[in-house]
Amino acid sequence: MLLDNHGRRINYLRLAVTDRCNLRCFYCMPEEGLDWLSRKELMTYEEMLKCCSLLVNMGIEKIRITGGEPFVRKDIMQLLTALSKLDGLKELSLTTNGVLTAPHVAELKRIGVRSVNLSLDTLDANRFFAITRRDEFANVMDTLNELLQHDIEVKINTVVMAGKNIQDILPLVHLTQELPVSVRFIEEMPFNGDGHSHSGILWDHVRILDEISSAYPTLQKLVDPQYSTSYNYHIPGHKGSVGIIAAYSRTFCGTCNRIRITPQGTLKNCLYDDGVLNIKDLMRLGMKDDELVQTLRAAFNTREIDGWQAEKKRTENTNVHESMATIGG
Ligand code: SAM
Ligand code: SF4
Repeated sequence: MLLDNHGRRINYLRLAVTDRCNLRCFYCMPEEGLDWLSRKELMTYEEMLKCCSLLVNMGIEKIRITGGEPFVRKDIMQLLTALSKLDGLKELSLTTNGVLTAPHVAELKRIGVRSVNLSLDTLDANRFFAITRRDEFANVMDTLNELLQHDIEVKINTVVMAGKNIQDILPLVHLTQELPVSVRFIEEMPFNGDGHSHSGILWDHVRILDEISSAYPTLQKLVDPQYSTSYNYHIPGHKGSVGIIAAYSRTFCGTCNRIRITPQGTLKNCLYDDGVLNIKDLMRLGMKDDELVQTLRAAFNTREIDGWQAEKKRTENTNVHESMATIGG
């Protein structure tokens, strides 16, 4: 079992395979996009596979592929298929914006992906365009339908943004009446890639819950699964459930079981730290597997107690304003 210096189990890796994206969600990146990584800076699939294999041997049980948008990276299904065969990996999942995903759903099911997180901030095509700056709503809805038809568990990720999609909270909750999906409302975080500091949020987890429970007074709290980052609820008679993720308030750090690897191979012990080592560079320098394992173990022994501490200790960008697409959400 892999433990950190605070005795927390680490068994979950989020691997971002690219920083590129076919949407421009305004809370994630500027309209002109980012200063994209060159191909040389990106980890190759071989490097990713090697790194995942080492980590699975060390105790990682679940891998989530994210980005940027995973499906804009060429031949992503090859990587997913190879990862699905890793001995010891119990769960492979992904987070996608759904624009290019629908045609791959049958294959995802075949290789054993049981759950997909689909990002969707609104059920209104015009607001979708205003938020993502791209006209792709219909394709995202196709992906939702395909996932449901293939009996893949769907978690819808909705970032709650003052002045942008507050009117969408209740329609998205309503979606859980007929569909067996979990709609998770996420507090907006400062990772918008625009270089400006963030001065707090207007819609935190308490306010989101108030909004939902005022409209649905029968809302029931569910027992949250171990390591859950969301507070989970159910409305009697609904097929799906509702979750609230206090990503900005950081109420879940005490049970944090996750690490992240960015598209260029930086290991992050926390979403809010600025990286503890670069595993791609170590591999390219020819570091042997047992030394890599020792180095990773040492890095897991330097985890901060929570996201506030991790943010305080940042040395490079003291303002947290990198894009979520370069971190892997
Ligand atoms: N492109 C894929 C997608 O959108 O699902 C995967 C990568 S995206 C960075 C992963 C998740 O991060 C998405 O659910 C997105 O809504 C969320 N996200 C991005 N920027 C965020 C921010 N500033 N605050 C909160 N969540 C954010
Ligand atoms: Fe792209 Fe996902 Fe960021 Fe939106 S949240 S711009 S879909 S990476």
